[in-house]
Amino acid sequence: MEDANLVETKDGTIVVASAFPGHPEALQDRDHKFLTRAVEEAYKGVECGDGGPFGAVVVYNEEVVVSCHNMVLKNTDPTAHAEVTAIREVRLKKSSYFCV
Ligand SMILES: [Zn+2]
Repeated sequence: MEDANLVETKDGTIVVASAFPGHPEALQDRDHKFLTRAVEEAYKGVECGDGGPFGAVVVYNEEVVVSCHNMVLKNTDPTAHAEVTAIREVRLKKSSYFCV
């Protein structure tokens, strides 16, 4: 990986917005790992037709505890963004938001 602001996926390379613009050194390997998980979740959501191409993970103690994607279409809920869904999932600790 040459550019700290890029995350490679199975379909090629896509740009991921950095949380620290102008400070690519702040984006570390662990961030790449978790961002990659979020991107994979976004792909899964699109493949399922659940909503827009967005994924989010909640990380605790260096581990992904929840991985969710946009559920706006499936739930007909305009608030079901990936990050909102992930927060709800953490709170409920249920797996009903995941598609397999
Ligand atoms: Zn959002």
